[in-house]
Amino acid sequence: MKSAWTDREADETVARYADEGVSEDLALRVYTSRLLGRDPLLVLHGGGNTSVKTTVTDLLGEDVQVLCVKGSGWDMADIEPPGLPAVRMEPLLKLRSLKVLSDEDMVRFQRGALIDPSSPNPSVETLLHAFLPHKFVDHTHSAAVLSLTDQDADEVLLREVYGDRVALVDYVKPGFDLAREATRVFEAHQQVEGLILRKHGIFSFGATAREAYERMIDLVTLAENHIAEVVGGIFPSVELPKELPPVAEVAPVVRGLLAVRGDDSVADPVRMILNFRTSEAVLNYVNGLDVGRYSQVGVVTPDHAIRTKMIPLVVSAPEAGLGDAFLEGAGEAVAQYVAAYRAYFARHDGVREPPKKALDPMPRVVLVPGLGLFGVGNSAAAACIAADLAENTVRVITDAEAIGAYLPVDEAATFDIEYWSLEQAKLSKAAERPLGRQVAVITGGAGGIGAATARAFAAQGAEVALLDLDGGKAEEVAEEIAGLGFRCDVTDGNAVRSAFDAVCEAYGGVDILISNAGAAWQGEIGEVDDGTLRKSFELNFFGHQTVAQNAVRVMLAQGTGGALLFNASKQAVNPGPGFGPYGLPKAATLFLAKQYALEYGYAGIRSNAINADRVNTGMFAGGLLEERAGARGQSPEEYLRTGNLLRREVLAEDVAQAFVALALARKTTAATLTVDAGNIEASLR
Ligand code: ZN
Repeated sequence: MKSAWTDREADETVARYADEGVSEDLALRVYTSRLLGRDPLLVLHGGGNTSVKTTVTDLLGEDVQVLCVKGSGWDMADIEPPGLPAVRMEPLLKLRSLKVLSDEDMVRFQRGALIDPSSPNPSVETLLHAFLPHKFVDHTHSAAVLSLTDQDADEVLLREVYGDRVALVDYVKPGFDLAREATRVFEAHQQVEGLILRKHGIFSFGATAREAYERMIDLVTLAENHIAEVVGGIFPSVELPKELPPVAEVAPVVRGLLAVRGDDSVADPVRMILNFRTSEAVLNYVNGLDVGRYSQVGVVTPDHAIRTKMIPLVVSAPEAGLGDAFLEGAGEAVAQYVAAYRAYFARHDGVREPPKKALDPMPRVVLVPGLGLFGVGNSAAAACIAADLAENTVRVITDAEAIGAYLPVDEAATFDIEYWSLEQAKLSKAAERPLGRQVAVITGGAGGIGAATARAFAAQGAEVALLDLDGGKAEEVAEEIAGLGFRCDVTDGNAVRSAFDAVCEAYGGVDILISNAGAAWQGEIGEVDDGTLRKSFELNFFGHQTVAQNAVRVMLAQGTGGALLFNASKQAVNPGPGFGPYGLPKAATLFLAKQYALEYGYAGIRSNAINADRVNTGMFAGGLLEERAGARGQSPEEYLRTGNLLRREVLAEDVAQAFVALALARKTTAATLTVDAGNIEASLR
């Protein structure tokens, strides 16, 4: 590992922040924190922290000694000065004289010592930073260091690699006790450049930002060099089926198995979002003959347990066609995992601390021999984090097994982190949104109604994938809502299949389809050429059928129901002259919605349609709005407002909200909802 420090960048950072009134100490602290934070082999998703001891001037003009330490909720890769809140040193140091201090009291006390009370909570490792005497202190969960310390015989190994350049601190849960213990160890070995926190990570320190940072790099490099000298890292592989199924076929099946089913008359199953990863390293690991042993020992560093649980679920290698053997085997594996998780909770709950609230028993990582791994979470972001940590785990354990025998913190210590009171407190605050844990696919997603619908579904918590002929625009809208955007022609069956496959790899499956892509063709029905009519049927009927077939295929594999939503048009109910080529396929699509409702209701799949009218979007492109308004002697605005009973213009957002309402209406199927501000000729029944 090379130092990424450059004097030029350091100077630039200092100069840039000086303009904002940020001190040189804090600017350099931001600079090296980012250098550490942007390397996933050192820091992943909050797994590390840094600090600097410096002086600030308070409102009275008095100098105050403070510790600027990483605040919770900030990522070191892109940290800014407010991410390193200033805490008064004097009260922090007084805490050392206490015998015990609960996490809650520690957090409260640290908040009370903040210079700016609106700052984020200082890190739980704040006291360790404060008690060490050095100006700059850096802490990471370096993968290479973890491979060395997550060992049966780590003390001997660490001595061999580091000599007396570091001191070793036995595993203690982060917080007050660890701060005291680490300081005690440091004070007995004051010449060291760093501390290895056994089974947890590494601290380095120095008089300058550069010294502390480069000591971290040096110490990690020693670990990396040691690993590089060892021949190994290739696990003997299990025998894999001759032909493997595509990931996109396996993902919905696994996702369905991980859903927690309750009373279906009351609520949907509690679903998970999946995120797939594979690589040579991942395959070496998941295909290993011994994966059932080395993957089941524990987390590489305790705070992963909050995101990944202590161990992953391992299923057997699937064969092409996904026969009953795989389904039964995987189902059995999930049942065993759940039972084992409940037993683990029962073993540790109430033993060292007051009773806890049990978390759901489903795994957060699934290893699939032959294919790779899935990160699992209650959102795409959480699944992605779990997958990142799982890939990091693959690396640490592969190296640890090459060196010796992987042995991380024990189960009791892992439980204490997974059920940390500070984490439990967050649970009650985190309310899930109505469409959370659901994946919505929207065709025509870049147009007016499509984009409004994408935003509305994202606002309700759904993970959204947009398909559109205009791939660039679809990506643009997707970026805005942290979703996915693809170019996809819904009249091309192969393209639709590929798009659904990509959604299954990214999210694990599909729960809601908003089949919205369409375009208006015109012509007098007695004269229109067949070509025009067939083109319209391709898009306005067969396009809907193709995406619906794909959605139903995935929904049946998941076995957790779903919602099909079709954008029909008022033309399907109330034909207008010259709009036969548009209205005819839309009428067929309205019927299609009913046919799906009829045939898939047994599987919990609902199918509904919307007939909207006079929405000022692409429908009226090419001067059509002006032409139709002009024919009535109206301005476009008058035309949009006066043609309905409510005298209100119908907006794309209105259609989007109607789609959301139908997605949430769990007892409604085969319905058509009118969004036209009142058009009695187009009203149903
Ligand atoms: Zn740590």
